[in-house]
Amino acid sequence: MIKENLNRVRDEIAEKCVKIGRNPAEIRLIAVSKTYGYEFVLEAKNCGQRDFGENWSQELVEKYDLVPEDVSWHFIGHLQTNKAKYVVPRAEFIHSVDSLKLTKEISKTAQKHNKVQNILLEIKTSEEATKHGLTSEEEIIGIAGYCKENKNISLAGLMTMAPFTDDEKKIRQSFSQLRTLKEKLNKNGFGLKELSMGMTSDFEIALEEGATMLRIGSAIFGTRNYLT
Ligand SMILES: *Cc1c(COP(=O)(O)O)cnc(C)c1O
Repeated sequence: MIKENLNRVRDEIAEKCVKIGRNPAEIRLIAVSKTYGYEFVLEAKNCGQRDFGENWSQELVEKYDLVPEDVSWHFIGHLQTNKAKYVVPRAEFIHSVDSLKLTKEISKTAQKHNKVQNILLEIKTSEEATKHGLTSEEEIIGIAGYCKENKNISLAGLMTMAPFTDDEKKIRQSFSQLRTLKEKLNKNGFGLKELSMGMTSDFEIALEEGATMLRIGSAIFGTRNYLT
């Protein structure tokens, strides 16, 4: 089933890209495997999937050891500072960086591992109290500036989650706000490439608004038993 799902999702991404004049090769599909066992990851890997997303450090640690090389792990969940030490050695990208304190801890850990850690800043673009992320532009620029001077961190871009709603306008607003913020930062010389936005229910809107990384879970692995 994973194979059919993956092929369908890839087709839908490709079709959408053609429709809006984007190159599907520029889009990184991250299969969000949270709550699903490593067998699911292996099956997707056998279908050519390389990028996987996880929300909890413990789950990442477990699957990391059970899935052989040549996959890329993306950490997309809320990350507590004291858990950075588990995530940094394993994740190619950390999408959910939401404070200077966490950025500094990631840097310290990355230095220990002799690594340049790719990160994205998570931006809160909706009113929902359950969503994490930065809101103050001053703070965002502050962290971006810190990253620019730091040799163990590479700030790749920005990440957001749209509000949980059927209102397409609100979803689009959230994504376009992220794109606008990226453009603004790049005018100030930060050179960000990635926009990590779009999930199962809203990735087509995200593509229209410039997403370069899609984080898709349930469309690939099936409905999860609990919401996160
Ligand atoms: C679970 C999750 C996703 C994937 O959600 P689906 O609706 O299953 O595609 C994407 N991003 C984050 C941050 C998530 O927690």
